[in-house]
Amino acid sequence: MSSDTQHYDIVIAGGGMIGTSLALALAPLGLRVAVVEAIARKEAAQPSFDDRSTALSRSTQRMFEAMGLWPDIVAAATPISAIHVSDQGRFGFSHIDAEEQGVEALGYVVINRVLGGVLQEALDKLDGVDVLCPARIVDIELAPDLATAGVEDEDGKRNELTSNLLVASDGANSAVREMMGVTAQKSPYGQRAVIGNLLPEKDIDNTAYERFTKQGPLAVLPVADGRAGFVWTVSDEDAERVMALDDDHFLAELQQEFGYRLGAFSRVGKRASYPLILSKALRLTATRSVLVGNSAHGLHPVSAQGFNLGMRDVAAIVDCIADAKTSSDNFDPGTTSLLDQYASWRRTDQQKLVRFTDSIVKLFGTERRPLRVLRNIGMLGFDLVPGVRSVFAKHTMGLAGRLPRLSRGVPIK
Ligand SMILES: Cc1cc2nc3c(=O)[nH]c(=O)nc-3n(C[C@H](O)[C@H](O)[C@H](O)COP(=O)(O)OP(=O)(O)OC[C@H]3O[C@@H](n4cnc5c(N)ncnc54)[C@H](O)[C@@H]3O)c2cc1C
Repeated sequence: MSSDTQHYDIVIAGGGMIGTSLALALAPLGLRVAVVEAIARKEAAQPSFDDRSTALSRSTQRMFEAMGLWPDIVAAATPISAIHVSDQGRFGFSHIDAEEQGVEALGYVVINRVLGGVLQEALDKLDGVDVLCPARIVDIELAPDLATAGVEDEDGKRNELTSNLLVASDGANSAVREMMGVTAQKSPYGQRAVIGNLLPEKDIDNTAYERFTKQGPLAVLPVADGRAGFVWTVSDEDAERVMALDDDHFLAELQQEFGYRLGAFSRVGKRASYPLILSKALRLTATRSVLVGNSAHGLHPVSAQGFNLGMRDVAAIVDCIADAKTSSDNFDPGTTSLLDQYASWRRTDQQKLVRFTDSIVKLFGTERRPLRVLRNIGMLGFDLVPGVRSVFAKHTMGLAGRLPRLSRGVPIK
């Protein structure tokens, strides 16, 4: 080992929302952890902690509760008490209610930058976690007994981190995933999500709206101060024009798509746009390394599930590591059996949600007549048959399938 090499139990590549949450979730286990993040926290370019609003599911809420972070997050979050799904130009609509589901809220909306602030502050207070930022993982070597990551800081100075386990949480275009030799299948939707916030005339009343338009889905979510966050899906061809519209014309077009259920829209804030690509890693692990969050799966935001799904990856890997730590005197978080256990646990949930989200986009994004008929029956049937709604609500809340301890709100010791 050269003098510039440091050893950790776990090295986390990427300190976005998922990588940072993982470092925090691991804290009770008292391991030596390093987080390597390429972009400085305060830079506007920080891609994870930006102006998007994220709908946190019940399982994510429970995780943050178990990690002791929920009081700080909920103070800045807006509860969703109902979800209203409609189809432009059709009468059918569906309504999911928190009370009907027997829960306090179906989820909570929080601005990524605000969530990032809470996570960052908690990370800064942790002992035993080194945060290397801005610094980038530029190469890796995976041997049966050790993972080595080459790290470069902003001045180009290189050092090496060795670990028992390397976790790739470096996002949908994960370079570390490629270095692990794992292929990801990518299918662009030919759409971009235009995001921002605005002021609706009527009280949004803690309701999240999902409207399927000819261009694609449009979500309007309750955020603080009576404002509403929007995620508007537009075609790649139209995105540049929509982004270049002045505020009045932009609001007029958005209003036309959404209708007047919330009265007139005004005072639109800063806008940003994101390419929408479905990505699926063909494997979740390689020697002494594992994928979590968007590096494993990139979803269309229509179901507001990408971060929540990633948080269940975090809960599962932490569960596997915690179990290994209690049951072995020779604790090693990077063994093949531990990684296999994680991969087989996560496969079903990830595949189901990828399929579910993709089929919603396809079902509601088509003009083909048989599917339109089906979806109209579906939209109406969806609201009339409580069982169907309940299954959908369970997925939305992240409560379907076998859940790891943190997702059930049980702290890790
Ligand atoms: C418009 C939109 C709306 C969304 N709404 C929701 C929602 O309501 N609910 C929900 O659950 N999800 C939502 N999502 C999905 C959610 O935003 C993502 O799933 C989540 O941000 C993924 O986090 P991540 O940490 O895995 O990846 P990222 O956010 O991409 O973070 C990766 C991090 O790795 C760093 N990095 C990259 N390469 C390196 C390297 N070589 N070395 C070191 N660091 C590196 C990057 O700088 C970055 O900070 C939405 C997504 C979009 C686009």
